[in-house]
Amino acid sequence: MQETIQVLLGLQELDTNLFSVKDELRRLPAERERRRKAIDARIATRDLLDEEVQRLQAGIKEVEMDTTIRRQRQRKLDNQLSDATDAALIASFQHEIRELKRYISQAEEEALESVAKVEELAEKRLAVAAEIEEEEVHFAEFEENMKKEMADAEKRRAALEADRDKRLTGNLDRNVLDVYERLLDAREGMSLSMLDGRTCTACYMEVPQNLYVRIARAADLVLCPSCGRILYLPKA
Ligand SMILES: [Zn+2]
Repeated sequence: MQETIQVLLGLQELDTNLFSVKDELRRLPAERERRRKAIDARIATRDLLDEEVQRLQAGIKEVEMDTTIRRQRQRKLDNQLSDATDAALIASFQHEIRELKRYISQAEEEALESVAKVEELAEKRLAVAAEIEEEEVHFAEFEENMKKEMADAEKRRAALEADRDKRLTGNLDRNVLDVYERLLDAREGMSLSMLDGRTCTACYMEVPQNLYVRIARAADLVLCPSCGRILYLPKA
């Protein structure tokens, strides 16, 4: 078993590297995705601002057309008023003119508020667009570096896996290898744990005396009762 542990320790060293390479290969695309999403969210914000500006501008235009028509009507009434002699008619004209003036002035006030709002939104949009532009530059740089890093990591992975295949053509028991590999997946790439005294250095739990004796005798593979890793003693 001592020999098996030595083979596993060699394998573990290689697999630790392999695990970190694989982690890098997962992490980089995830990071790319995260960055892309952040920019896309900003683009969505910019598009919303554009929509809001368009909506307000359409509203302003509508008010302009509406007030133009009402002003024409008011001018017509002004003329009719100056020609009118009948008191009831005069009162009716005056009433309608007053109503028109009130309406127009209120509509213009609202339009002015919309104009101010459009300016405010346009400023915001400008800032968001500048942020997007800057982030796109950073994103392109990140992507460029990522391509290189991924290619590099792929090369390292291929080399490590080739090395691993070579080692495994040796004399490791299939069952031992199964246990070891299951632990690799379950324990973030660390299948073995050294004992410090009777303490597992991976999970810091103390193993019972009888287990310690078994490990010291090295007759069989002993797993930590707490974290499940293959336990071994430091070289004397
Ligand atoms: Zn443990």
